[in-house]
Amino acid sequence: MRSLGANKLPEDAQPFILIVEDESLIRETITMALTEEGYQVLAVEDGRQALDVVHASRTSDEGDVSAIDLLILDLMLPYINGLDLCRLLRQEGITTPILMLSAKGTETDIVVGLEIGADDYLAKPFGMRELIARCRSLLRRASRQPASQEQLIVQFQEIALYPQECRVTVRDGAVNLSPKEFTLLELFINNPRRVFSRDQLLERVWGIDFMGDSKTVDVHIRWLREKLELDPSNPQYIITVRGFGYRLG
Ligand code: CA
Repeated sequence: MRSLGANKLPEDAQPFILIVEDESLIRETITMALTEEGYQVLAVEDGRQALDVVHASRTSDEGDVSAIDLLILDLMLPYINGLDLCRLLRQEGITTPILMLSAKGTETDIVVGLEIGADDYLAKPFGMRELIARCRSLLRRASRQPASQEQLIVQFQEIALYPQECRVTVRDGAVNLSPKEFTLLELFINNPRRVFSRDQLLERVWGIDFMGDSKTVDVHIRWLREKLELDPSNPQYIITVRGFGYRLG
């Protein structure tokens, strides 16, 4: 049983780190140091093996969810070098934090590494304390950005709105909304059943400087209904509240 320091996570939540390093002495030293810190560690010696492990660790078909919490990637590697591997993983949508290692501590390497999606860079030779500190910081940063932020969804019955992607689906089908329709729906879906007057909607969606009148709101509501409702003349989502305005649900 390993002893855990005060600031460590519970054992079953220990982050999983993949080390990709062809120099066996460095690979073993890092593996030992991180294992002693309580991390779960797997080490491989070339880019191809690394790619296999990363692909096998996917926990969903989406490709961006991985059981690996952190990747320590050497720059010069057999088969696929660290830069190409990093680029490849990012192109595949894999967002696992990457710490690049290199004997070449030149500024150009660092810039290239970071530009293609590495999160941090450590030049050889480095001390194990420095490495552990960088790993900790990357893992901490990653845990502050939960995966849910990547795929944040606001739902109301069969409407799903993806705020970061500006995308909406209804009954699992994609809906094409204009920016104003999207903002309007976003306001409604964030405030279900709340009644908004036409003036409130004009102010919140079009801005207080907008010169048009409340007919603009009615027109956009009609368009939204045509896109969202099964029967736009008998709306189930965007309801008219006579004398007041509109509400969702
Ligand atoms: Ca190397």
